[in-house]
Amino acid sequence: MAILFYSEVDDPEPWRQAFARDLPAMAFRVWPDVGDVDDIAYALVWKPQPGLLKTLPKLKAILSLGAGVDGILADSELPRDVPLIRLVDAGLAQQMSEYALYGALHFHRQMHVYALQQRQARWRMFEPVAASRRSVGVMGLGVMGSDFVRKLAPLGFRVLGYSRTPSALPGVVSFHGEAGLRPFLEQSEILVNFLPLTGETRRILNAERLAWLPRGACIINLARGGHLDEAALLAVLDSGHLGGALLDVFDREPLPPEHPFWRHPQIFITPHIAAWAVAEVAVSQVIENIRRVERGEQPLGLVMIERGY
Ligand code: NAP
Repeated sequence: MAILFYSEVDDPEPWRQAFARDLPAMAFRVWPDVGDVDDIAYALVWKPQPGLLKTLPKLKAILSLGAGVDGILADSELPRDVPLIRLVDAGLAQQMSEYALYGALHFHRQMHVYALQQRQARWRMFEPVAASRRSVGVMGLGVMGSDFVRKLAPLGFRVLGYSRTPSALPGVVSFHGEAGLRPFLEQSEILVNFLPLTGETRRILNAERLAWLPRGACIINLARGGHLDEAALLAVLDSGHLGGALLDVFDREPLPPEHPFWRHPQIFITPHIAAWAVAEVAVSQVIENIRRVERGEQPLGLVMIERGY
């Protein structure tokens, strides 16, 4: 029995070593060295080449190297009868929360305004806003969003949350569904996106919805580039409606050098690093899920394919 590793961004070596140590009976193959396809019982993948997974006739499960599975579901030839399993936290939530906390404090303390002033050697002070008077809107209250909310709440911010179904996290003013989106956005001075990318959430932040944000609002997108209409973001920044954006994810990655985001003075860019799976930490969850599948038990993080997350 073998596992096939496919990722164009993750180093397979730490995973190979972790499997050799913790599950030595499983042969570890790294794409394109697939070997005999009949040996491959598991695929551990990040954005696999479309059509690859359907060439593996004995697959028992597809394991995502990330919390999101949009890069796997994008494969129109995905074998839909094979269980698809994502990472549930596995060390990612702490990293995502750190990134979002950094961004929320950056915009809350108006660092984006002072960054613009610095370019002009301009010394002008703005009175700080009390955290209790600042509303932070959190889109997606799943594993990542709820971890962020727990870490943000002790700082005293007014926290708003948005999910698909009703939620009741302590200390969070909650909104859900289509009807909840407008009142949620209208109050979100700092908007943090933790949604999965699905048919329903693609371009959820389009021109119409960006206009619902309060004047001067800032956006932190660490979920997926497909959530945001990039041209609409440029328009609301240039019109002065939005104050700034911290972006980790983009429609095209790597972000092409000619993309206007790179040189926009109100956009801060990171190269999809908000969180990534560290083999040492995540391997135990991956191996536990393989053991569960082998025993015929439900794995942790089984994706509902029709729902998209
Ligand atoms: P999760 O536990 O599945 O949580 C998803 C949340 O989004 C849930 O609260 C869900 O609502 C909500 N949601 C889904 N569809 C919605 C819709 N149509 N309208 C409103 N809310 C909706 O996922 P997670 O583990 O927190 O991960 C979230 C995402 O973070 C991943 O999918 C991935 O895209 C992103 N991520 C990015 C990085 C990075 O490095 N940039 C790293 C890791 C993850 P319900 O509670 O009602 O189901």
